[in-house]
Amino acid sequence: MFNAIYLTQSDDGKTQAALREFNDDVLPRYESGNVIVDVHYSTINFKDGLAITGRSPVVRSFPIVPGIDLCGVVAESDDPEWKVGDKVIVNGWEIGERYWGGLSQRARVRGDWLIRLPAGLTPWDAMAIGTAGYTAMLCVRGLEKNGVAPDSGPVLVTGASGGVGSIAISILAKLGYKVTASTGRLSESDYLRELGAAHIIDRSSLSSPGKPLQKERWAGVVDTVGSHTLANACASTQYGGTVTACGLAQGMDLPLTVAPFILRGVKLIGINSVLISRAEREDAWERLAKDLKPQAIAAMSRTVALPEVFDVARDILDGKIRGRVVVDVQRAM
Ligand code: NDP
Repeated sequence: MFNAIYLTQSDDGKTQAALREFNDDVLPRYESGNVIVDVHYSTINFKDGLAITGRSPVVRSFPIVPGIDLCGVVAESDDPEWKVGDKVIVNGWEIGERYWGGLSQRARVRGDWLIRLPAGLTPWDAMAIGTAGYTAMLCVRGLEKNGVAPDSGPVLVTGASGGVGSIAISILAKLGYKVTASTGRLSESDYLRELGAAHIIDRSSLSSPGKPLQKERWAGVVDTVGSHTLANACASTQYGGTVTACGLAQGMDLPLTVAPFILRGVKLIGINSVLISRAEREDAWERLAKDLKPQAIAAMSRTVALPEVFDVARDILDGKIRGRVVVDVQRAM
């Protein structure tokens, strides 16, 4: 028997979340390449908060075990690529949205969703990074691929105290970029400076409607909040600069004109971590193992037990979580 967080939906559409005990019979079976993983750690991302509270319809199929990330050890494998004892990570591929997720002591997944835990990272490190950190790396790569270098000019990171924001700051600072962190929590300024932010701005300076074109400030942007913040970030990006958009913490809308694109050649790059190719995932994880200092990962993360995820899910949506939360799924009490 093992424990998992289980989400059901009532007739009136409300999500109910509970800690339940199961055996392997309930684990879903896929057409091929079935692998059972003993999950050691998972995490709570913003999307997990939405799923567990039901605040936004991110779950495509009820009942479901939430958790878009997991890290553990292969316990059984029908896939020749994976052997019992292999240490593996799964991020996305719609686990926790459509398929059995990571907030469970055991999971059956498809072998082609797995990537190997990179050398130099522990399973705890991998979940402290999680989808948030791996998305932060995809954003950094988006800037690099579009020519934003450390000497191009300042890089803006929005939603700075959150998971994606904290890790983006840490990676960019280690690579030599001059990072401006936008936050609604100026009380976290010391934390953001420790991660490597050179400047800190109040997010209220970006969150209201602004002019279509503003003073050129940023060579690049990692935006995790969307809405007016993303519009203002595009409007204040330098000629030829790049904005990576991955999140919607402020809103899904984008009240923007074409002016930054046609008058300044600004590039707006969408980042999706869920269905990106395996090769790009492996590349991003290798970079994370290299470009993120272990002390930085530890400084921005804390660990909770499985039953604590209900509170953390509410807190992350209310903007009360700093950095990252790792879930020790083996602790079910
Ligand atoms: P967190 O909740 O950890 O961080 C979000 C941060 O955004 C908060 O900490 C807060 O930072 C800021 N924020 C919260 N509410 C608002 C608001 N109303 N207006 C402006 N800023 C706000 O979430 P994650 O870092 O895990 O995820 C960030 C976003 O990225 C989410 O929207 C998530 O869904 C998305 N995401 C997308 C992925 C993809 O594949 N595209 C993958 C992973 C995440 P502060 O207090 O410093 O202002």
